Amino acid sequence: MLRSSLLFAARNASARKLVESTPLTRPVVNRFIAGDDVSSAIRATAEVLADGRLVTLDHLGEDTFEESQANATVEAYLTLLSRLESHGLTEGAEVSVKLSAVGQSLAVDGEKIALENARRICAAAGVVGTTVTLDMEDHTTTDSTLSILRELRVDFPWVGAVLQAYLKRTEQDCRDLAYAGSRVRLCKGAYQEPASVAYQDKHDVDLSYVRCLKVLMEGQGYPMVASHDPRLIAIAADLASARSKDSYEFQMLYGIRPEEQRRIAAEGNRMRVYLPYGDEWYGYFMRRLAERPANVAFFARSLLTK
Ligand code: FAD
Repeated sequence: MLRSSLLFAARNASARKLVESTPLTRPVVNRFIAGDDVSSAIRATAEVLADGRLVTLDHLGEDTFEESQANATVEAYLTLLSRLESHGLTEGAEVSVKLSAVGQSLAVDGEKIALENARRICAAAGVVGTTVTLDMEDHTTTDSTLSILRELRVDFPWVGAVLQAYLKRTEQDCRDLAYAGSRVRLCKGAYQEPASVAYQDKHDVDLSYVRCLKVLMEGQGYPMVASHDPRLIAIAADLASARSKDSYEFQMLYGIRPEEQRRIAAEGNRMRVYLPYGDEWYGYFMRRLAERPANVAFFARSLLTK
């Protein structure tokens, strides 16, 4: 119930105004976001890389309905990639892109514009020697995102994508994408989805995650295990025992279980941190609150005790 309300609020303009205008929100947001600008993102990236973890950077923004804003997002990624290169950080840091931020949700030619914009980001990433992973948004975008992935991979075979275990289709998508060179980031899924397309029960989502993991680990691709769930991480490690340590990786979000991130990296695993930055933090922040009721209590307490 609380999760549904928060996910509804994540896409509601009035709720957004209310949360954003409360100055006391900011300290809580800062736990999950590396800062408002590219300089903060570069600083945070260097810190994470320094203790042996890897990074994927997300310039925050989603559901863009203006082409000019989509272009501005592309420019922000080009600046980010050039700053990563000038700071010598491209070996350990790549970028993650939400296609709805670069045009996918535009009413006219959205998919075509998103493809062209994603192409510009991929070309720039290729020049500086790093990779791009496409985030996955709500289920109405899955076919479009996978179609853009296929197009991009013709010229940029290192482009990866996220798949969400809560969707009933995902086990098959994992089979389709478990080929050599394919990078798949498997997560549980963070949006409000109907029962017609997505498992609603947490246990069913976990079971689906394990089935998908098996497909990816037995396949020829590069699985990216994106979860903070200790049981799933243990199962992933077990399923990967026949693989070399550089043929898969673990991933977690910035600010969540950082000690566990360091522990996993210290054991010689590839551990990548998803590091968001920018001032469009609202949707991302609300999804983090929805994932864990304790975060809401923490947020409420911080408002009440000031
Ligand atoms: P959960 O069962 O939710 O959590 C397991 C444990 O992790 C919890 O008990 C708690 O200790 C800790 N934890 C989890 N979430 C939080 C939190 N918010 N705050 C504090 N502690 C927490 N979703 C998408 O739909 N599309 C994407 O493109 C996408 N990309 C992602 C990329 C990465 C690298 C990661 C790690 C997640 C991504 N997600 C994405 C989010 C994902 O779908 C889940 O919503 C999120 O990871 C929580 O699921 P979990 O596997 O950690 O398991």
